[in-house]
Amino acid sequence: MGTALLKATEMNQEHLLVLGAGPGGYTAAFLAADLGMKVTLVDAHPKPGGVCLHRGCIPSKALLHIAKLISETRDAKAWGLEFGEPSIDLEKLKGWKNDVVQKMSGGLAQLSKQRGINFINGHGVFRDSHTLEISGKEKVIFDHCILAVGSRPFVPELFSGLGSLVMDSTAALELNDIPPRLLVVGGGYIGLEMGSVYEALGSGVTVVEMTEGLLPGVDRDLVRPLQARLKKRFDNILLNTKAVGVNESPSGVRVKLEFPSGTKEETFDRILISVGRQPHSSGLGLENTKVEVDDNGFVQVSHQQQTTDRSIWAIGDVVGGAMLAHKASSDAHLVVGTISGQSVSPGKGIMPAVVFTDPEIAWCGATETECREKGKAVNISKIPWGASGRAQTIGRPDGLTKLIMDPASDKILGAGIVGTGAGELIAEAVLAIEMDATAKDLASVIHPHPTLSETLKEAAEAYLGKSPHLVKKSSAR
Ligand code: FAD
Repeated sequence: MGTALLKATEMNQEHLLVLGAGPGGYTAAFLAADLGMKVTLVDAHPKPGGVCLHRGCIPSKALLHIAKLISETRDAKAWGLEFGEPSIDLEKLKGWKNDVVQKMSGGLAQLSKQRGINFINGHGVFRDSHTLEISGKEKVIFDHCILAVGSRPFVPELFSGLGSLVMDSTAALELNDIPPRLLVVGGGYIGLEMGSVYEALGSGVTVVEMTEGLLPGVDRDLVRPLQARLKKRFDNILLNTKAVGVNESPSGVRVKLEFPSGTKEETFDRILISVGRQPHSSGLGLENTKVEVDDNGFVQVSHQQQTTDRSIWAIGDVVGGAMLAHKASSDAHLVVGTISGQSVSPGKGIMPAVVFTDPEIAWCGATETECREKGKAVNISKIPWGASGRAQTIGRPDGLTKLIMDPASDKILGAGIVGTGAGELIAEAVLAIEMDATAKDLASVIHPHPTLSETLKEAAEAYLGKSPHLVKKSSAR
């Protein structure tokens, strides 16, 4: 075995090893290199980008863009503009999606090279707290390591052994064909996003969700407009329902569905499993370090993201919490700042979340559900998008913007938006909360007209009793 001893302290430079080149890992590597550290970045994939770029955020959003386009051409019929049914060239469509990914991963590889980062393609296994072995060939000795190995789809045992009849999100993004009858198991964001893609491309989609509502944990008033639209698009949305048995049959896969009043069997051509993700913490040799994981395999970290092994830090999906790309890159800023001795203020850490369905759902800060569960008193102001000129001009009044305020200070604690483009709109609310803005602050900011962003200002105005488009009960004659 060749031993590449990259101990950079000999060169009076700390050597940082980053394991995993997803949005957490590559951000950490790039920031550290910019601060003058010697950086080695290791990933099992030949190009940086991680799950997010290769089999997550980016390919799914490219496909959702196409789904939205198809859905808009259908909506246009009601406005007097009729297109025929789309003719879908699956190979070309996949090519376009893959090009988007290639372009971005090529860009990241270039940025890594320009920074002088040593990118090594291979599978890393810890031999001790300062040594990583890569694909059994090379050893790297490090001063500090940032573990950014992410997560993978969780597929319950029930569905094993069915081969290509079952897809996880990675297989679904391959888009090898469009099954006529698709069962989506799990009504979380990945299931609904991928279900929307397949529906737009021609699949009949059934979603089963074991809890009583889609997108568990998200405020119900935000989910309702999405559920109403999906109800028209999907063949079936089965809540309080579990898939409890599967059998391959000559016509596909027969699935036993269990709901509160009984069971039934249905046949599908394919099943998409989207019931959650699990941390990538096994097979890493963590037992050769002092890093501890919890019962679910998530790496245990301090507030500074330091593991129980002083030389190893962990960020992103592998530590759990919000398993989102921007959370991983935010962790990276914190850790690199700490390792390099800079004082990094993590701010309030307001974490936006977006479901990129049509309509989109986005929220940040306190949610109504969580406040109610905790018995926390809050004031809530809502603007239905029927009052928005912009929403009407695009034929999409099926939205809602709401703000959650602290009753004592009128400070904005949280925001939730459902509607087209909600994912872009939420950033303003994140900034408002980070900056301790009150409803009055937001109401006094001039917003361009006609835009959907006005709904945020109007929700603040409504809270203050000054909304031009909502009639206050007391002022009605
Ligand atoms: P990852 O991106 O998971 O990267 C980890 C990397 O580590 C991988 O490249 C892997 O190859 C490498 N690795 C693991 N073990 C080893 C090893 N032993 N040796 C070498 N390399 C190793 N998030 C959003 O914010 N917005 C979205 O719209 C969104 N959409 C998504 C859609 C789908 C279908 C999926 C699956 C996920 C989506 N996510 C989204 C979640 C997002 O992809 C993750 O939160 C994010 O990628 C986590 O980043 P990370 O840096 O922690 O790790």
